[in-house]
This record gives sequence, C-alpha cells and structure tokens, in this order.
Amino acid sequence: MEKVLTVCPYCGSGCKINLLVENDQVIGAEPAQGVTNQGELCLKGYYGWDFLNDPKLLTPRLRKPLIRRTRDSAFEEVSWYEAINFAATRLQEIKHKYGPDSIMLTGSARGPGNEANYVMQKFARAVVGTNNIDHCARVCHGPSVAGLQVTLGNGAMSNSVEEIENTKCVFVFGYNAAVSHPIVARRILKAKEKGAKIIVCDPRFIETARIADLWLPLKNGTNMALVNAFAHVLLEENLYDKDFVAKYTEGLDDYKATVAKYTPEYAEKITGVPAQQIREAMRMYAGAETATVMWGMGVTQWSQAVDVVKGLSGLALLTGNLGKPSCGVAPVRGQNNVQGACDHGALPNMLPGYQPVTDAAARAKFEKAWGVSNLPDKPGVCLTEVPKMVKAGKLKAYYIFGEDPAQTDPDLHEVRESMRDLEFVICQEIFMTKTAMMADVVFPATSWGEHEGVYSSCDRGFQRFYKAIEPQGDVKPDWEIISLMATAMGYPMKYSNTQEIWDELRELCPIYYGATYEKMAGLGYIQWPCPDLDHPGTPYLYADKKFQTPSGKGLLFACEWRPPMEKVDAAYPLILSTVREVGHYSCRTMTGNCHALQTLADEPGYISMHSKDAKALGISDQHLVSISSRRGKIIARADIDDRINEGAVYMTYQWWVGACNELTAEHLDPISKTPEYKYSAVKVEAI
Ligand code: SF4
Repeated sequence: MEKVLTVCPYCGSGCKINLLVENDQVIGAEPAQGVTNQGELCLKGYYGWDFLNDPKLLTPRLRKPLIRRTRDSAFEEVSWYEAINFAATRLQEIKHKYGPDSIMLTGSARGPGNEANYVMQKFARAVVGTNNIDHCARVCHGPSVAGLQVTLGNGAMSNSVEEIENTKCVFVFGYNAAVSHPIVARRILKAKEKGAKIIVCDPRFIETARIADLWLPLKNGTNMALVNAFAHVLLEENLYDKDFVAKYTEGLDDYKATVAKYTPEYAEKITGVPAQQIREAMRMYAGAETATVMWGMGVTQWSQAVDVVKGLSGLALLTGNLGKPSCGVAPVRGQNNVQGACDHGALPNMLPGYQPVTDAAARAKFEKAWGVSNLPDKPGVCLTEVPKMVKAGKLKAYYIFGEDPAQTDPDLHEVRESMRDLEFVICQEIFMTKTAMMADVVFPATSWGEHEGVYSSCDRGFQRFYKAIEPQGDVKPDWEIISLMATAMGYPMKYSNTQEIWDELRELCPIYYGATYEKMAGLGYIQWPCPDLDHPGTPYLYADKKFQTPSGKGLLFACEWRPPMEKVDAAYPLILSTVREVGHYSCRTMTGNCHALQTLADEPGYISMHSKDAKALGISDQHLVSISSRRGKIIARADIDDRINEGAVYMTYQWWVGACNELTAEHLDPISKTPEYKYSAVKVEAI
C-alpha cells in the first residue's frame, strides 16, 4: 500500500491528508501533519475519497467527451479530436458573429487547482478576448474581497488559521465554523481551552455559541445596525486604540458622525440584541490583548454585505488588531480553492496576482508574455449577472468549468431558462451535473486524486497536491483540455506539465514569485506575499502598519443600515436562509458519491424550523412539507430544531430534490453582485 500526500478538497482549511492507494485504487485516507490541521481531519476528509472509485451512487463519472449536435438530440460519445473541434468551431463562430464579450467563462474554486484557473483566464483574455470570467467567489466571499480591498487594500485573511488558537478573543460573526470548516472550529475550541473569550453573533444557537462567553442572537438582516452599534460603543466608551487610529487610519470624523445615532438602545430596537450585551461584547473584544474577527456567509450573502465587511474591518482598525500575530480579520473562504481562483485571475476585473485589468502597465506585461496585443481593458460580466445579460441578448455562449450554476445560483428557474436561451454551452466536469445536462458539449476532466498542482487555502497558503491514481476512461486534466481549445482556436498553448504553468504565472505575479514548486515541497506551506526566492512567506499581513490603500492608511468606514431587499408578508411569512450541511460539499458531485457521507444525509433536503413555528403550521419532525416563495415551490423534510430562531427557516443547498435555490431571489449587493441567499420570504405547509 502506498501513501500519497495531498490536500483535502472539501473546504478552505487546507488540511493535509494521505490517500491510501492499493492496486491503483484509493482504499482509505488518514490525516497528515499539515500546518492548519496538525494531524486532524473532519469526516469529509476521512470519508470523502471513494467517489474516485466510481461507486455510481448519485451519478456515474464522466468518461468520454460528449456532444449534442442539436438541442433536441441526445448526447453522443465522440473522440477528443471531434469534441474539441466541434466546441472550438462554435465558439469561434459566436466570437466572430457577436464579438468576444458575447462569451462568458468560469474558473473553478474546486479541485482543478491554481494552474488550471490561470490557464482558463488566459484562454478568456488572450484567446477569446474578454474579461467575462468569474467563479463562485461571486456568490460567497465576493463582498469580503471588495470590502477589504477598499479599507485595507487586500481582500484576503490578514492572519493565519494556525494563529487562531493563540488569540485572546475570537469574535465570530455570521460564521458556523463547526459545519463549514470543522478544523478551523477546532482552533477556536483550542483558543477557548487556552482562556480566550468567545463572542458569537448569529440568529441561531450554532455549535460555537455553546462554548461562547457571549451569544448575540441578532434578527436576520440587521448586521449593519449591530456593527455600527459596536463602533459606537468603542468610541463612546473610549475603548479604541487612539494611537493606532491616529497613526494608521483615516476617515475617523465621518465614521464617528455615521455611527453616532447607533446607540446600543437604538440598535436593540433593530437587531433585537439587548443593549447591555452589545456593550459587553465590545468591552470583551477591545479589552483582549489580541482579537480576531471571523466571518462567513452570514455576513457576505446579503444585499448590504460589502458595507458590513468594511464595518467589521473598522472594528479591527479601531482596536489596533492588525499587523501582529493572532489577531486581524478572517473572512474564512468556503471552497477548497476559492482563494486560489481569485488569486489567479478568475475574476472579471483582475489579472492574476490582483493586477487590475484597467492598469495599462499590467496589461502590457501580460500582453508581452502571452504574445498578444490589446488585452481587454474593461471589467467583464459577473457570474450573477449572466441571466440578465442573456435575456438582454448580450451573452450567447458559456464555457463553464468545474461549477454548477444550474444548481447553486439563486433563482434557478431564471438561471436554467437563461442557459436554454444561450446558443452554445460547454461544461467541463467530472460528473454529469445539472449544468452538464444542459450543455451542448461536455468535456470529462480528471478529478482531485487524479492530477496535481497547487491549492491556496483560506489564509493565503499555497500547498502542493499530488496525483494518487491513474484516471479511468478517456479523461484529461483541466489545463490540458483548455490548452487544446486554445490551440484549436488558433492560439497554440503547449504546456507539458503544471510546473511550467506555475513558473509562467510566478514570473508575472510579484506577490507569488518566490513560491516555487521546490520550495513548496520543502516547506509544505507558503503564504503569499512571497516576493523573492529567499522569502519564507507571510503568515500575517501589515506588519509594517502600511495598508495597501492609496494613502497607505486603513479606512474607517460606516454607513446606514438598510433592511433586506425581500419583504416578508402574510402570503410569505417566514424568512428562508440557506446554510451548509457538514457531511456534504457544495452541490454533492463528489461527496454524494461517497458511501459513508451519503448515509449521513440523503435526499430530499431538509428544512430546519423552530418547534413553535412547526406547531402553528401543524408540522411534525421528519414529515414532508412544501416550501414556496415568489419564485418557486419545492418539497423537503422538516427538521424541528429549537436552536434556531422563530420566524426563520434554514435549508442546505446541496440537494437536487429540495433544491432551495428554486426559492431564493436574485437580489444582489450593488458592489460585489453577491446574492442575498440569507433572506427569502417563504411559506411552509404540511403535505
Ligand atoms: Fe477537509 Fe475542511 Fe474537513 Fe479539513 S476541515 S478535513 S479541509 S473538509
């Protein structure tokens, strides 16, 4: 039996794992000593490997290229030569007929790795000629990137997962670590064991609330009012670090003026959190020697998410909790390589290494390296804008790589209708997903475990991952498929391995330059920035107290609270919030095909509701219910749970039957274009 060291593909924690391989089959997994996991794994890490052996539980693995010659015809298996030429010819026709910006592409925040994302964005920009490339960060931590870039100049976590256990106060806002990142949750628990104070802001009594010193159960949709009240208390009670604020921040006067009216008593009326608890929370946070504010989708999946992220970074700035170990801001990225897809240019406004597409010097550098002229200079279309752009006749083709928008994007009826309206859809996948079923061409790709490369974990950590087994069937690595497409479209792309791609991107991105394959293999973990070959990487940012804003100072920002976009009324009286399921990852393409994980939870999906709401509606635990919103109707199984708040219901988004995104709305944050998944008005009925 052989042990192959790799990185778990199921969340941004970046846990190192050994796959146990015998006769070219994976037969098990065991934890390795990674920087973030230190010999521990959660259940997805332990049991999330047997999809590689293709047990055909949910759907079979894709093994041959598929094409449909017309929308009404069935898929037929064809050779790679025919599939690539069919797809390349159609994309070229659409490009010539409607222009490069009529084509939309995605990166992938899942298993393919950083090199494949780099190649895909290069294909979009250098071959197609568009910045229309995006990925699922748009529907999760897009607001964290947008907000932190404005206030601190860098959209990533400021400190490391490893440092959390030594912080003296962990302030958790809208983040259910035990479900989203169980190994990060272990760090919070260790911090508690070492004496840290724990503050939790969440409408539900989540797992971390059980160990909290203070749990603030705010009403759904009131984040901004609570954050403003926190700032008010820090200023009113002189709890802030005046020296840090004077030297390293700007905007204090406007900030003070905005939060002045958010007294704890005023905020209590909006948020439902007792004024005294708001004061206590800030005394605890500001009184700690070091404090970390952590957040997840409970902060970002709102129509005012970017403002709230700016507000949370303001709390860290006010208390001087930046630029030193075990403190800072921690937007904990969900998918295993969502940080990497952002880092390597799968964004409509950024070239790799966060070099703006609007920067002429950056474009010139990439043009020279890629041997093209006139790279597009205007930001492209965001993922969540696709349905409306299709409806407006501006998008005609979609090349979807390792994402499943027909299952995970909001308002699925509109998403699926827009995909039917497109002239041509390519899907590059490992399983026959909902999206793949709607495509004209399906390219079968290798999976995690069958290819190698580099992932970026949620704290900017680069790690190599390795191939454990030979793939079955006629499948190819993602970077190779995209390279074949580029070549067929007249731009020869001839990489022979992932290291060649990595070395090309390092040369073009100063913040990654020093992170070579050899160094990663030696150190195991390198956090960017890593600007030169002798640099060890950067566990925490802003050590010199210089922020990457135009002035070099951190921006204090506050703005008025706005209520959610959707309205609850007599017809739709309950608030639906979408959440995660601990045993499954994303839309279950991988974990749904793992025996142990599938037995933990299976379709239909469930809806969690408070016993008082259930009783009023005549609903019993585990019974089937119908849930309807202004957009659709689904069925699910009731899960009565008094750890959640009355008036709200919660559904995980993994299920084909009980797909909660048939109910969610496409209300977007105006800056990040992230949907308000956390607030849809619904009606629940017993059936
Ligand atoms: Fe995998 Fe995340 Fe679990 Fe670690 S915490 S084993 S990375 S799913």
